[in-house]
Amino acid sequence: TSAQIGVTGLAVMGRNLARNFARNGYTVAVHNRTVARTKALVEEFGSEGDFIGTETAEEFVAALERPRRLVIMVKAGGPTDAVIEEFAPLLEPGDMIIDGGNAHFADTRRREKALREQGIHFVGMGVSGGEEGALHGPSIMPGGPKESYDSLGPMLEKISAKAKDGAPCVTHVGPDGAGHFVKMVHNGIEYADMQLIGEAYQLLRDVAGYSPAEIAEIFRTWNQGRLDSYLIEITAEVLSHVDAATGKPFVDVVVDQAEQKGTGRWTVQIALDLGVPVSGIAEAVFARSLSGHAGLREASQGLAGPKAAPLGKEEAAAFADRVEQALYASKIVSYTQGFHEIAAGSEEYGWDVDLGAVSAIWRGGCIIRAAFLDRIRAAYDARADLPSLLSDETFAREIADAQDDWREVVIAGVRQGVPTPGFSAALAYYDALRASRLPAALTQGQRDFFGAHTYRRVDREGAFHTLWGGDRSEVSA
Ligand code: NDP
Repeated sequence: TSAQIGVTGLAVMGRNLARNFARNGYTVAVHNRTVARTKALVEEFGSEGDFIGTETAEEFVAALERPRRLVIMVKAGGPTDAVIEEFAPLLEPGDMIIDGGNAHFADTRRREKALREQGIHFVGMGVSGGEEGALHGPSIMPGGPKESYDSLGPMLEKISAKAKDGAPCVTHVGPDGAGHFVKMVHNGIEYADMQLIGEAYQLLRDVAGYSPAEIAEIFRTWNQGRLDSYLIEITAEVLSHVDAATGKPFVDVVVDQAEQKGTGRWTVQIALDLGVPVSGIAEAVFARSLSGHAGLREASQGLAGPKAAPLGKEEAAAFADRVEQALYASKIVSYTQGFHEIAAGSEEYGWDVDLGAVSAIWRGGCIIRAAFLDRIRAAYDARADLPSLLSDETFAREIADAQDDWREVVIAGVRQGVPTPGFSAALAYYDALRASRLPAALTQGQRDFFGAHTYRRVDREGAFHTLWGGDRSEVSA
């Protein structure tokens, strides 16, 4: 027998993805650099389906039916290149290499181009949902040549998560690096979502005076409404968890220094290159970075802050409702920014990404899965060329309803000295977008003054310069 798909790289992700394929009735060839992992997989889970355990690259490739579909699930970066170099010479034109790791989309573009010259289809495939998702159904974001999706797509649709309406959470995102780009922005949005939730928690704790257990209940209530999402759900679980060793809330015994693996940082770096203002995502990445500067924070412990003035019980309940509004409005803004980045990437690289389809495949399986994504999908269904999510009538109305509370929450944070970089950045973005005039006019004047950089006028076409050092008359530039 030959395998319909092969997976090489059998750490948590690859192992679970291989099991997912097998559980769905596919014969799966498995391979790993360290053979012990392959053996362990077949021994432990062999009864779940048809696995072909292989030890060498040659054996692995020989086990695959043609055209071959070979999934790589190894550490991103150098290891991915090493594995491609090992397998590519063994493949034939028409075969497919599918990289399910968290590759940088620029690497994916480079690899796709190189392999295309050998006639090999290279599919950069974003996978979200962690190890549980890989096993039970992830959200899958494949890029690469469209024709590869004809034979690969149905298999991915089978193993993917399904949205509540039954639709598989996978689509052909676009050529070459489009899939990994979208996965990158997914992770950036995930950072922003987590940061906003963190700010909501801190405000409920320090401004409203609630305990972690009480805040868990508040999140549970929110999870019944429009904020219904995986991240809100697990937040309630984490906040209600009590440390067995000390009897304290778990959240109080964890070192408050957030780590990161890099996809959030990439999202911001690429946004800077593309000139897309993803301020909410950037603040989320910086907030993690700041938290990790232990020495700097230690040295700053004596700095002055406002006197704490916690709210009374009734005020606290009303404040919690406001925080929900602020969180929801800020979330709309971070998705607005993330989708702007995808649109800009799509434009830059000619990917023709369908933004509605992207929101649809994030509805299940992935970390940011949420009822909210149905609304984004509806917004793009109503108007595919929506300039921004904020241009959607429903979102605009919801923000209009939320904005007073949103402002009050940011003010309360400022007054009490509770940092809200995410809420504040989102609000500043919103206010800047809707402003009829921005101080950018002054910036242009300053630039023209010190560097003769010229400016455009509101009333006439052309570029102009004022003779600042002379009689201050204006000349055409
Ligand atoms: P790791 O990222 O920890 O990678 C371990 C695997 O890579 C092992 O199979 C290891 O083989 C193999 N490997 C490392 N270096 C080489 C090399 N030079 N040559 C051949 N094989 C090598 O595993 P994960 O399962 O956590 O992740 C796999 C991929 O999926 C990564 O790209 C990750 O970013 C991505 N991903 C992970 C998610 C997660 O939640 N963990 C979620 C979504 C994507 P060996 O056993 O021989 O050491």
